[in-house]
Amino acid sequence: MSRYFSGRFQTLTPYTPGEQPQERRYIKLNTNESPFPPSPGVMAAVQEEAKRLQLYSDPECRALRNALAEFYDLAPEQFLAGNGSDELLNFAFMAFCDEDCPALFPDITYGFYPVYAGVNRVPFREIPLEEDLRFSLEKLESLHGTVFLANPNAPTGLAKGREEIERLLRSRPDSVLVVDEAYVDFGAESVLPLVSRYDNLLVIQTFSKSRSMAGARLGFAAGSEDLIADLNTLKYSTNPYNVNRMTAAAGVAALREDAYYRANARTIMENRCFTAEALRKLGFTVTDSKANFLFACCSRIGGGELYRKLKERGILVRHFTLPRIDDYVRITIGTREEMEALLEETAAILEEQS
Ligand SMILES: *Cc1c(COP(=O)(O)O)cnc(C)c1O
Repeated sequence: MSRYFSGRFQTLTPYTPGEQPQERRYIKLNTNESPFPPSPGVMAAVQEEAKRLQLYSDPECRALRNALAEFYDLAPEQFLAGNGSDELLNFAFMAFCDEDCPALFPDITYGFYPVYAGVNRVPFREIPLEEDLRFSLEKLESLHGTVFLANPNAPTGLAKGREEIERLLRSRPDSVLVVDEAYVDFGAESVLPLVSRYDNLLVIQTFSKSRSMAGARLGFAAGSEDLIADLNTLKYSTNPYNVNRMTAAAGVAALREDAYYRANARTIMENRCFTAEALRKLGFTVTDSKANFLFACCSRIGGGELYRKLKERGILVRHFTLPRIDDYVRITIGTREEMEALLEETAAILEEQS
C-alpha cells in the first residue's frame, strides 16, 4: 500500500477472482464459465462492430435494451446494461444502501457482496444459512435493509421458488430486494416477470454463464422504471460508455440465437445430473444444485486437499477457505468428456488415500 492510498480504503479486502492460469492448459472447472463457444451470430456481430471502434458506443445501449424488452416482454426503460453484472451489483449497493439501510445477505453467498458493501462504505449484515446450507427467507421478513439474494445461491447451487420470493417481496414492500440470477438458466425459476408488479424488485442477470460470454463482460438489470433511473444516475456519474460496441452487438445476437444457448444449458444440466450421481457413488455429499456447478464434499478428503491434488493432475476446481464450507469444492459443469476426466482423477485420488 502506498502512503497516498486513501484512509477510506485501508481496511478494504478486495474480491479474489478464481484462477485464470495463462501458463498451462487445465481442464478449467473453477470459474463457472461455459464450455461452449459463443454462437456464430455473436462472433459475426463482434467482427462487424469492430469496424466502428473509432466511435464511442451508444451510452443508452438502445439496440440491446430494445432486444431485451422484446425478449422478456417488458419496456426498454425497465432495463439497464452493465459491464458484467458485477458492475450493476455495485450500482445497487451504491443506490439502495446507506447508514440507515444496511445490506442484508446470507453468510455464505457470492463473495463479492461484502466487498461491494466495503467499497461503498455501507453497513451489512450476514444472515446465517441453516445447517443444511439452505436459506430461510422468513428470517429476513422482520429485518430492515436491502436484501441481496443470489438465486440459485453461490456456491451452494440451491434455489428458491418464485412464490417464496414473491412472499418476501410482499412482506417488505418498503425495501428493495435485489435478486442476482447469474445461474437462473440452469433449472431455477426467474422472478424477472414480476418486476412490473413489484416496484421494490430488481433482477440482475448476466451473459457470462449460460450465454458463453464471460470474456465480453455483459450483464443487465431489470426493474421498475424508477429503480432503473436510479441506477442510470450512477452509471452516468461513473462511466456512460460502460458497455463497449462489440459486447452490446454480441448481446443482441445472443438473444436472437437463444435456441443454441438453451440447448447448451440443457446439456449442462444433463452433465450435472450425471456428475452428481457419479460423485455420490464415490461417497460424496452433493447439494441439489440448480446452477452450472456442483458443490460437493467427501469425508475421505478435505476440500483444500482435493483441490490441490486435482490441480496437480491438470484439473482446476474452486475451494473456499471459509469456516462452514472448507470441506467442499465447487466444480463447474463442463462437457461430458471434462466431467469424465474429473471423475476419473477424483477416483484415483481417493484410491491413493486408502
Ligand atoms: C458470475 C457471477 C456474477 C458476475 O457475473 P459477471 O456478469 O461476469 O460480472 C454475479 N453474481 C453471481 C452470483 C455470479 O456467480
